[in-house]
Amino acid sequence: MSEPPLTYLDHAASAPVRPEVLEAVAPFAQDVFGHPSGSHRQGRAARRALEEAREQVAALMGARPAEVVFTAGGTEADNLAVFGVLGAAARRRPGGPTVVLSSSVEHAAVRDSCAAAAVRLTGVEHRTVGVDAHGVLDLGHLAELLDGAPGPDVALVSVMLANNEVGTVQPLAEVVALTRRLAPGAVVHTDAVQAAPWLDMREAAAGADLVAISAHKLGGPKGAGALVVREGTELDALIVGGGQEHERRGGTHNVAGAVGLATALAASAARREDEALRVGGLRDRLADGILDAVPSVTEAADRKAVLPGHCHLCFDGVDREELIVLLDAAGVCVSAGSACASGALEPSPVLSAMGVPASVARGAIRFSLGHTSTADDVERALAVVGEAVARLRA
Ligand code: PLP
Repeated sequence: MSEPPLTYLDHAASAPVRPEVLEAVAPFAQDVFGHPSGSHRQGRAARRALEEAREQVAALMGARPAEVVFTAGGTEADNLAVFGVLGAAARRRPGGPTVVLSSSVEHAAVRDSCAAAAVRLTGVEHRTVGVDAHGVLDLGHLAELLDGAPGPDVALVSVMLANNEVGTVQPLAEVVALTRRLAPGAVVHTDAVQAAPWLDMREAAAGADLVAISAHKLGGPKGAGALVVREGTELDALIVGGGQEHERRGGTHNVAGAVGLATALAASAARREDEALRVGGLRDRLADGILDAVPSVTEAADRKAVLPGHCHLCFDGVDREELIVLLDAAGVCVSAGSACASGALEPSPVLSAMGVPASVARGAIRFSLGHTSTADDVERALAVVGEAVARLRA
Protein backbone atom coordinates (compact mmCIF):
# COMPACT_ATOMS: atom_id res chain seq x y z
CA MET A 1 0.00 0.00 0.00
CA SER A 2 1.39 3.43 -0.85
CA GLU A 3 1.89 6.02 1.87
CA PRO A 4 -0.82 8.71 2.10
CA PRO A 5 0.44 12.20 1.19
CA LEU A 6 1.91 14.12 4.11
CA THR A 7 -0.48 16.62 5.66
CA TYR A 8 1.64 18.46 8.20
CA LEU A 9 -0.49 20.34 10.71
CA ASP A 10 1.97 20.58 13.59
CA HIS A 11 3.80 23.84 12.82
CA ALA A 12 3.50 25.02 16.44
CA ALA A 13 5.62 22.03 17.48
CA SER A 14 8.21 22.62 14.75
CA ALA A 15 7.89 24.32 11.37
CA PRO A 16 9.48 22.93 8.20
CA VAL A 17 12.87 24.53 7.53
CA ARG A 18 12.62 27.37 5.01
CA PRO A 19 14.68 27.00 1.80
CA GLU A 20 16.42 30.34 2.39
CA VAL A 21 17.52 29.10 5.82
CA LEU A 22 19.08 25.99 4.34
CA GLU A 23 20.93 28.12 1.84
CA ALA A 24 22.12 30.61 4.47
CA VAL A 25 23.45 27.98 6.90
CA ALA A 26 25.11 25.70 4.32
CA PRO A 27 28.52 27.50 4.32
CA PHE A 28 28.80 27.01 8.10
CA ALA A 29 28.46 23.23 7.75
CA GLN A 30 31.46 23.16 5.46
CA ASP A 31 33.52 26.17 4.38
CA VAL A 32 33.27 28.55 7.34
CA PHE A 33 34.27 26.38 10.26
CA GLY A 34 36.51 28.69 12.32
CA HIS A 35 35.98 29.55 15.97
CA PRO A 36 34.30 32.97 16.06
CA SER A 37 36.82 34.12 18.68
CA GLY A 38 39.75 33.29 16.39
CA SER A 39 41.93 36.13 15.07
CA HIS A 40 42.66 34.54 11.69
CA ARG A 41 40.58 34.78 8.52
CA GLN A 42 38.44 31.72 9.37
CA GLY A 43 37.66 33.12 12.81
CA ARG A 44 36.92 36.55 11.38
CA ALA A 45 34.52 35.11 8.79
CA ALA A 46 32.60 33.24 11.50
CA ARG A 47 32.58 36.29 13.75
CA ARG A 48 31.31 38.51 10.93
CA ALA A 49 28.44 36.12 10.21
CA LEU A 50 27.57 35.92 13.90
CA GLU A 51 27.53 39.69 14.34
CA GLU A 52 25.50 40.22 11.16
CA ALA A 53 22.97 37.68 12.48
CA ARG A 54 22.89 39.54 15.80
CA GLU A 55 22.23 42.86 14.04
CA GLN A 56 19.45 41.31 11.98
CA VAL A 57 17.77 39.69 15.00
CA ALA A 58 18.11 42.92 16.99
CA ALA A 59 16.49 45.02 14.26
CA LEU A 60 13.56 42.61 13.91
CA MET A 61 13.07 42.40 17.69
CA GLY A 62 13.24 46.17 18.22
CA ALA A 63 16.42 45.81 20.23
CA ARG A 64 20.06 46.84 20.04
CA PRO A 65 22.63 44.24 18.97
CA ALA A 66 24.23 44.21 22.44
CA GLU A 67 20.84 43.24 23.89
CA VAL A 68 20.63 39.95 21.93
CA VAL A 69 21.92 36.83 23.70
CA PHE A 70 22.04 33.75 21.46
CA THR A 71 20.95 30.52 23.18
CA ALA A 72 20.38 26.89 22.27
CA GLY A 73 16.63 27.42 21.79
CA GLY A 74 13.53 28.68 23.55
CA THR A 75 13.82 26.48 26.63
CA GLU A 76 17.31 27.78 27.38
CA ALA A 77 16.22 31.38 26.75
CA ASP A 78 13.35 30.96 29.23
CA ASN A 79 15.61 29.27 31.79
CA LEU A 80 18.16 32.05 31.41
CA ALA A 81 15.44 34.64 32.00
CA VAL A 82 14.01 32.97 35.10
CA PHE A 83 17.19 31.74 36.80
CA GLY A 84 19.16 34.74 35.58
CA VAL A 85 16.86 37.32 37.15
CA LEU A 86 16.05 35.35 40.31
CA GLY A 87 19.69 34.40 40.83
CA ALA A 88 20.77 38.04 40.58
CA ALA A 89 17.93 39.13 42.90
CA ALA A 90 18.74 36.43 45.47
CA ARG A 91 22.40 37.44 45.33
CA ARG A 92 21.48 41.08 45.96
CA ARG A 93 19.26 40.21 48.92
CA PRO A 94 20.48 36.88 50.28
CA GLY A 95 17.74 35.07 52.16
CA GLY A 96 15.23 37.91 51.66
CA PRO A 97 11.85 37.21 50.08
CA THR A 98 11.82 37.23 46.30
CA VAL A 99 8.64 36.51 44.40
CA VAL A 100 8.23 35.32 40.81
CA LEU A 101 4.78 35.60 39.25
CA SER A 102 3.95 33.62 36.14
CA SER A 103 0.72 32.96 34.28
CA SER A 104 -0.93 29.62 34.90
CA VAL A 105 -0.69 28.75 31.18
CA GLU A 106 3.06 29.06 30.66
CA HIS A 107 5.00 26.49 28.65
CA ALA A 108 6.93 24.01 30.81
CA ALA A 109 10.14 25.93 29.98
CA VAL A 110 8.87 28.77 32.18
CA ARG A 111 6.54 26.84 34.50
CA ASP A 112 9.19 24.31 35.52
CA SER A 113 11.97 26.94 35.71
CA CYS A 114 9.92 28.99 38.18
CA ALA A 115 9.08 25.90 40.23
CA ALA A 116 12.72 24.76 40.23
CA ALA A 117 13.96 28.24 41.17
CA ALA A 118 11.64 28.20 44.20
CA VAL A 119 13.23 24.91 45.30
CA ARG A 120 16.86 25.74 44.50
CA LEU A 121 17.15 29.40 45.47
CA THR A 122 16.66 30.33 49.11
CA GLY A 123 13.84 32.81 49.65
CA VAL A 124 12.31 32.49 46.16
CA GLU A 125 8.54 31.98 46.04
CA HIS A 126 6.54 31.16 42.92
CA ARG A 127 2.92 32.30 42.52
CA THR A 128 0.72 31.83 39.48
CA VAL A 129 -1.70 34.28 37.95
CA GLY A 130 -5.01 32.83 36.75
CA VAL A 131 -6.59 33.00 33.30
CA ASP A 132 -10.19 33.10 32.07
CA ALA A 133 -12.00 30.33 30.16
CA HIS A 134 -10.25 31.38 26.92
CA GLY A 135 -6.79 31.38 28.47
CA VAL A 136 -6.51 35.19 28.72
CA LEU A 137 -4.61 36.44 31.77
CA ASP A 138 -6.71 37.74 34.68
CA LEU A 139 -5.25 41.24 35.06
CA GLY A 140 -7.20 41.78 38.30
CA HIS A 141 -5.50 38.75 39.80
CA LEU A 142 -2.11 40.00 38.61
CA ALA A 143 -2.77 43.38 40.27
CA GLU A 144 -3.79 41.62 43.48
CA LEU A 145 -0.61 39.54 43.54
CA LEU A 146 1.60 42.51 42.69
CA ASP A 147 -0.08 44.45 45.50
CA GLY A 148 -0.26 41.53 47.92
CA ALA A 149 3.38 40.62 47.70
CA PRO A 150 4.72 44.03 48.69
CA GLY A 151 5.89 45.69 45.48
CA PRO A 152 9.66 45.59 45.95
CA ASP A 153 9.57 41.85 46.69
CA VAL A 154 8.36 40.88 43.23
CA ALA A 155 11.53 40.27 41.25
CA LEU A 156 10.06 38.79 38.07
CA VAL A 157 6.77 38.70 36.19
CA SER A 158 6.67 36.13 33.38
CA VAL A 159 3.72 36.16 30.97
CA MET A 160 3.95 34.50 27.55
CA LEU A 161 3.01 36.54 24.49
CA ALA A 162 0.94 33.71 23.02
CA ASN A 163 0.11 30.25 24.28
CA ASN A 164 1.54 27.15 22.63
CA GLU A 165 -1.51 24.91 23.07
CA VAL A 166 -4.57 27.05 22.42
CA GLY A 167 -2.80 30.01 20.78
CA THR A 168 -4.32 32.76 22.94
CA VAL A 169 -2.47 36.09 22.75
CA GLN A 170 -1.92 37.75 26.12
CA PRO A 171 -2.41 41.46 26.99
CA LEU A 172 1.33 42.02 27.46
CA ALA A 173 1.19 45.83 27.30
CA GLU A 174 -1.25 45.83 30.23
CA VAL A 175 0.93 43.36 32.14
CA VAL A 176 3.91 45.68 31.67
CA ALA A 177 1.93 48.79 32.68
CA LEU A 178 0.56 47.14 35.84
CA THR A 179 3.99 45.82 36.82
CA ARG A 180 5.65 49.21 36.30
CA ARG A 181 2.98 50.84 38.47
CA LEU A 182 2.73 48.29 41.30
CA ALA A 183 6.20 46.72 41.35
CA PRO A 184 8.53 49.16 39.60
CA GLY A 185 11.61 47.12 40.50
CA ALA A 186 10.33 43.91 38.89
CA VAL A 187 11.61 42.58 35.58
CA VAL A 188 9.04 41.55 32.93
CA HIS A 189 9.81 38.48 30.85
CA THR A 190 7.77 37.25 27.92
CA ASP A 191 8.06 33.90 26.18
CA ALA A 192 7.45 34.95 22.58
CA VAL A 193 8.37 31.56 21.09
CA GLN A 194 4.91 30.96 19.59
CA ALA A 195 4.10 34.59 18.85
CA ALA A 196 7.28 35.39 16.89
CA PRO A 197 6.11 33.86 13.56
CA TRP A 198 2.90 35.91 13.64
CA LEU A 199 3.33 39.19 15.51
CA ASP A 200 5.65 42.13 14.94
CA MET A 201 8.03 41.74 17.86
CA ARG A 202 9.05 45.40 17.66
CA GLU A 203 5.56 46.33 18.84
CA ALA A 204 4.07 43.27 20.49
CA ALA A 205 6.99 42.67 22.87
CA ALA A 206 8.11 46.29 23.13
CA GLY A 207 7.54 46.78 26.86
CA ALA A 208 9.14 43.56 28.13
CA ASP A 209 12.64 43.57 29.61
CA LEU A 210 13.32 39.99 28.47
CA VAL A 211 11.96 38.34 25.31
CA ALA A 212 12.57 34.68 24.39
CA ILE A 213 12.35 33.31 20.83
CA SER A 214 13.19 29.99 19.16
CA ALA A 215 14.35 29.41 15.57
CA HIS A 216 12.54 26.15 14.81
CA LYS A 217 9.09 27.68 15.26
CA LEU A 218 9.99 30.18 12.53
CA GLY A 219 11.27 27.72 9.94
CA GLY A 220 14.82 27.82 11.27
CA PRO A 221 17.00 25.09 12.78
CA LYS A 222 16.28 23.33 16.06
CA GLY A 223 18.48 24.12 19.04
CA ALA A 224 18.88 27.84 18.26
CA GLY A 225 17.14 30.77 19.92
CA ALA A 226 17.72 34.07 21.61
CA LEU A 227 16.87 36.07 24.68
CA VAL A 228 16.58 39.82 24.27
CA VAL A 229 17.93 41.38 27.47
CA ARG A 230 17.14 45.08 27.57
CA GLU A 231 19.91 47.29 28.80
CA GLY A 232 19.92 47.71 32.57
CA THR A 233 18.28 44.33 33.30
CA GLU A 234 20.30 42.49 35.94
CA LEU A 235 20.81 38.90 34.86
CA ASP A 236 23.20 36.18 36.03
CA ALA A 237 24.50 33.72 33.43
CA LEU A 238 23.10 30.21 33.44
CA ILE A 239 26.05 28.78 31.51
CA VAL A 240 29.46 30.14 32.45
CA GLY A 241 32.87 29.60 30.92
CA GLY A 242 34.37 31.50 28.01
CA GLY A 243 32.71 34.85 28.67
CA GLN A 244 30.74 34.85 25.41
CA GLU A 245 27.67 37.01 24.91
CA HIS A 246 29.06 39.68 27.28
CA GLU A 247 29.36 37.10 30.09
CA ARG A 248 25.66 36.24 29.78
CA ARG A 249 26.06 32.86 28.00
CA GLY A 250 29.33 30.98 27.91
CA GLY A 251 30.31 28.44 25.27
CA THR A 252 31.47 28.49 21.65
CA HIS A 253 28.76 30.07 19.50
CA ASN A 254 26.48 28.04 17.28
CA VAL A 255 27.21 30.25 14.28
CA ALA A 256 24.98 28.30 11.87
CA GLY A 257 22.18 28.39 14.46
CA ALA A 258 22.43 32.16 14.86
CA VAL A 259 22.47 32.66 11.07
CA GLY A 260 19.53 30.26 10.72
CA LEU A 261 17.56 32.10 13.41
CA ALA A 262 18.20 35.49 11.81
CA THR A 263 17.26 34.24 8.33
CA ALA A 264 14.07 32.53 9.56
CA LEU A 265 13.00 35.57 11.57
CA ALA A 266 13.62 37.85 8.57
CA ALA A 267 11.72 35.54 6.20
CA SER A 268 8.71 35.31 8.46
CA ALA A 269 8.75 39.07 9.16
CA ALA A 270 8.88 39.87 5.44
CA ARG A 271 5.68 37.88 4.76
CA ARG A 272 3.98 38.27 8.11
CA GLU A 273 0.85 40.19 7.13
CA ASP A 274 0.05 38.18 3.99
CA GLU A 275 0.79 34.91 5.73
CA ALA A 276 -1.39 35.77 8.72
CA LEU A 277 -4.32 36.47 6.38
CA ARG A 278 -3.73 33.43 4.20
CA VAL A 279 -3.09 30.96 7.04
CA GLY A 280 -5.84 32.46 9.21
CA GLY A 281 -8.28 31.80 6.35
CA LEU A 282 -7.11 28.19 6.03
CA ARG A 283 -7.38 27.73 9.79
CA ASP A 284 -10.96 29.07 9.78
CA ARG A 285 -11.91 26.72 6.95
CA LEU A 286 -10.45 23.79 8.94
CA ALA A 287 -12.04 24.73 12.27
CA ASP A 288 -15.46 25.54 10.77
CA GLY A 289 -15.33 22.45 8.58
CA ILE A 290 -14.75 20.20 11.58
CA LEU A 291 -17.26 21.99 13.81
CA ASP A 292 -19.92 21.69 11.05
CA ALA A 293 -19.27 18.04 10.22
CA VAL A 294 -18.40 16.44 13.55
CA PRO A 295 -20.82 16.48 16.48
CA SER A 296 -19.77 17.25 20.08
CA VAL A 297 -16.60 19.22 19.38
CA THR A 298 -15.64 22.33 21.36
CA GLU A 299 -13.18 25.04 20.45
CA ALA A 300 -11.03 25.77 23.50
CA ALA A 301 -10.36 29.49 23.01
CA ASP A 302 -11.99 32.51 21.39
CA ARG A 303 -10.68 32.45 17.83
CA LYS A 304 -10.53 36.26 17.66
CA ALA A 305 -7.84 36.24 20.36
CA VAL A 306 -5.85 33.35 18.94
CA LEU A 307 -2.78 33.25 16.64
CA PRO A 308 -3.69 32.64 12.96
CA GLY A 309 -2.13 29.17 12.79
CA HIS A 310 -3.77 27.63 15.86
CA CYS A 311 -6.89 25.46 15.83
CA HIS A 312 -7.45 23.73 19.16
CA LEU A 313 -10.45 21.42 19.40
CA CYS A 314 -11.73 19.00 22.05
CA PHE A 315 -13.47 15.90 20.69
CA ASP A 316 -15.93 14.50 23.24
CA GLY A 317 -15.64 10.82 24.01
CA VAL A 318 -12.30 10.47 22.22
CA ASP A 319 -8.84 9.68 23.58
CA ARG A 320 -6.48 12.22 22.01
CA GLU A 321 -3.57 9.79 21.69
CA GLU A 322 -5.74 7.31 19.79
CA LEU A 323 -6.96 10.04 17.48
CA ILE A 324 -3.37 11.23 16.82
CA VAL A 325 -2.39 7.67 15.84
CA LEU A 326 -5.39 7.23 13.53
CA LEU A 327 -4.80 10.59 11.85
CA ASP A 328 -1.10 9.80 11.44
CA ALA A 329 -2.02 6.55 9.67
CA ALA A 330 -3.99 8.75 7.25
CA GLY A 331 -0.95 11.02 6.76
CA VAL A 332 -2.21 13.86 8.97
CA CYS A 333 0.33 15.02 11.58
CA VAL A 334 -1.18 16.80 14.59
CA SER A 335 -0.44 16.85 18.30
CA ALA A 336 -2.12 17.23 21.64
CA GLY A 337 -0.30 20.53 22.07
CA SER A 338 1.54 19.56 25.19
CA ALA A 339 4.11 16.88 25.77
CA CYS A 340 3.00 14.25 28.22
CA ALA A 341 6.20 12.81 29.65
CA SER A 342 4.47 10.27 31.85
CA GLY A 343 2.50 8.75 28.99
CA ALA A 344 -0.56 8.90 31.24
CA LEU A 345 -3.54 10.86 29.98
CA GLU A 346 -3.22 13.71 32.43
CA PRO A 347 -5.13 16.84 31.41
CA SER A 348 -2.76 19.57 30.25
CA PRO A 349 -2.05 22.21 32.93
CA VAL A 350 -3.10 24.86 30.37
CA LEU A 351 -6.57 23.37 29.86
CA SER A 352 -6.95 22.77 33.61
CA ALA A 353 -6.10 26.43 34.27
CA MET A 354 -8.78 27.42 31.74
CA GLY A 355 -11.31 25.33 33.65
CA VAL A 356 -11.76 22.72 30.90
CA PRO A 357 -13.08 19.54 32.58
CA ALA A 358 -10.68 16.58 32.45
CA SER A 359 -13.24 14.54 30.50
CA VAL A 360 -13.24 17.17 27.72
CA ALA A 361 -9.45 17.78 27.83
CA ARG A 362 -8.98 14.05 27.20
CA GLY A 363 -9.96 14.62 23.57
CA ALA A 364 -7.87 17.79 23.01
CA ILE A 365 -6.10 18.10 19.66
CA ARG A 366 -4.00 21.00 18.35
CA PHE A 367 -3.98 21.45 14.57
CA SER A 368 -1.39 24.10 13.79
CA LEU A 369 -0.80 25.63 10.39
CA GLY A 370 2.09 27.66 9.09
CA HIS A 371 4.19 28.80 6.18
CA THR A 372 3.91 25.60 4.11
CA SER A 373 0.19 24.99 4.76
CA THR A 374 -2.13 24.81 1.75
CA ALA A 375 -5.84 24.49 1.00
CA ASP A 376 -5.16 20.86 0.01
CA ASP A 377 -3.79 20.16 3.51
CA VAL A 378 -7.02 21.46 4.98
CA GLU A 379 -9.23 19.46 2.60
CA ARG A 380 -7.25 16.26 3.26
CA ALA A 381 -7.59 16.76 7.03
CA LEU A 382 -11.30 17.45 6.71
CA ALA A 383 -11.72 14.28 4.67
CA VAL A 384 -10.34 12.07 7.45
CA VAL A 385 -11.02 13.71 10.84
CA GLY A 386 -14.78 12.99 10.93
CA GLU A 387 -14.33 9.36 10.05
CA ALA A 388 -11.51 8.84 12.56
CA VAL A 389 -13.54 10.41 15.36
CA ALA A 390 -16.61 8.31 14.45
CA ARG A 391 -14.48 5.14 14.50
CA LEU A 392 -13.11 5.92 17.95
CA ARG A 393 -16.54 6.76 19.32
CA ALA A 394 -18.12 3.59 17.91
N1 PLP B 1 8.01 28.26 24.89
C1 PLP B 1 6.96 27.95 24.13
C2 PLP B 1 5.72 28.77 24.23
C3 PLP B 1 7.03 26.87 23.23
O1 PLP B 1 5.97 26.58 22.47
C4 PLP B 1 8.22 26.12 23.18
C5 PLP B 1 8.32 24.94 22.29
O2 PLP B 1 7.33 24.25 22.08
C6 PLP B 1 9.30 26.49 23.98
C7 PLP B 1 9.17 27.57 24.83
C8 PLP B 1 10.60 25.75 23.95
O3 PLP B 1 11.35 26.09 22.82
P1 PLP B 1 12.50 25.11 22.28
O4 PLP B 1 11.78 23.96 21.63
O5 PLP B 1 13.27 25.92 21.30
O6 PLP B 1 13.32 24.68 23.43
